[in-house]
Amino acid sequence: MEQLIEDKLIKADKTFSEWRKVPFEERQKLIAKAAEILKNNSEKFGRIITAEMNKPISQSIAEVEKSALMMNYYAEAENTVKPEKVDSEYTYSEIRYVPKGVILGVMPWNFPFWQVLRFVTPAILSGNTVVLKHASICFGSGNAIEEIFSEAGFPEGVFQNLEVGHKEVKEILEHDAVKGVSLTGSGRAGGEVAATAGLNIKKSLLELGGSDAFIVLDDADLDKAAKVGAQARLQNCGQTCVAAKRFIIDQKIEEEFLPKFIEEYKKFVPGDPNDKETKISGMARPDLADDLEKQFNKALENGAEIIIPLERISDNEFNPGLIRVKEGNPILQEELFGPLGMVMVAENDEQALRMANDIPFGLSNSVWTADKERQLFFIENLESGTVNINRMTSSDPRFPFGGTKASGYGTELSLLALREFVTPKTIVGN
Ligand code: NAP
Repeated sequence: MEQLIEDKLIKADKTFSEWRKVPFEERQKLIAKAAEILKNNSEKFGRIITAEMNKPISQSIAEVEKSALMMNYYAEAENTVKPEKVDSEYTYSEIRYVPKGVILGVMPWNFPFWQVLRFVTPAILSGNTVVLKHASICFGSGNAIEEIFSEAGFPEGVFQNLEVGHKEVKEILEHDAVKGVSLTGSGRAGGEVAATAGLNIKKSLLELGGSDAFIVLDDADLDKAAKVGAQARLQNCGQTCVAAKRFIIDQKIEEEFLPKFIEEYKKFVPGDPNDKETKISGMARPDLADDLEKQFNKALENGAEIIIPLERISDNEFNPGLIRVKEGNPILQEELFGPLGMVMVAENDEQALRMANDIPFGLSNSVWTADKERQLFFIENLESGTVNINRMTSSDPRFPFGGTKASGYGTELSLLALREFVTPKTIVGN
């Protein structure tokens, strides 16, 4: 391992021995300060995001502002990692939540600020320190975040950005100083990193891919579902883990809903990412566009029909596409991480549910119906970490976020995230 990287791990470990003693409320004050810096410079940081991965600038600024909001949530959060008395016959009878130490974050490029800060904020508030391995195209974001923590007054070593490629992750995770890992990314990367963590008996948290369903039933508000559905698929150029990727439409409203949906979909015309009016721009890298094109062809070879063609207009840009897919098409078992949506038609609620669940993933489904009983049917039976009723998925710091099945394990956001990287220590006796 490069000496510079090893030095940073040792520094993170040393800082941990002091940081863990800093009172929760003091840590919260520093987090509030970092949130203020983010909020006051949202355009500056938004420009870094856009330059690195082509996100339309208005969405990049919104990402920074949302990150500030999330940090403020934790800056005011209840302390759920303070010692807890347990009622018993013993004199000593309590649980202490002990931070684990240095936690490695392995993060993706699709939300370069949000994903990092979503993991880091509760982890450091619980008393851990963090080293970040950001996506290779996002080192600028990683360095900007390190500067924010420094400017906010955090001790050096609470958060450090490591400019390393993914081949170096294994050795870093195996280092004695590192006590756990949180990875947001693909299943392939998650599996490899979790295997290393497992072999070294270190805690891991995985936030992986998804292929969420957006189910529109016959009694839904179709105008709203069409508008929100297009946005749910195409914002961030379709490169969102919780994007609506499969539109499961009740056959009774197929003829009425589809034209509305297509009309909304076609409003997403690729433009300059630096223009504040742009709703969609290029994908983050040309090779990701190649992959999406291959998946489009694979879907067609297996019987999918074109509703709107996926048209490549430059090395990384598409006019967004929409295809009709039937059960059994192998493309349904894959995640489409770009501006290509799938439409399926269901004869009844049972079939819609079966279609929604018949994938390896389980992140965050969305159901559109005004009927309470039908809502409950889907709430109880959808296999996903989140179920949204008459709204698109959008994470909220107050609620837990995480997947089931191949979408990963562990919880981010909410008060629950404060207990991800701590060890409950039982103190009992007389
Ligand atoms: P990725 O290729 O898995 O990369 C994510 C991070 O993992 C990057 O830092 C990458 O580093 C690193 N990495 C890649 N291969 C690795 C390996 N073998 N060992 C260790 N680290 C490795 O994923 P991506 O293409 O950036 O992001 C898209 C995926 O992330 C999608 O599947 C998406 O659904 C998922 N995602 C999930 C969530 C969620 O919250 N559930 C949120 C956002 C994205 P390099 O850049 O150096 O390769």
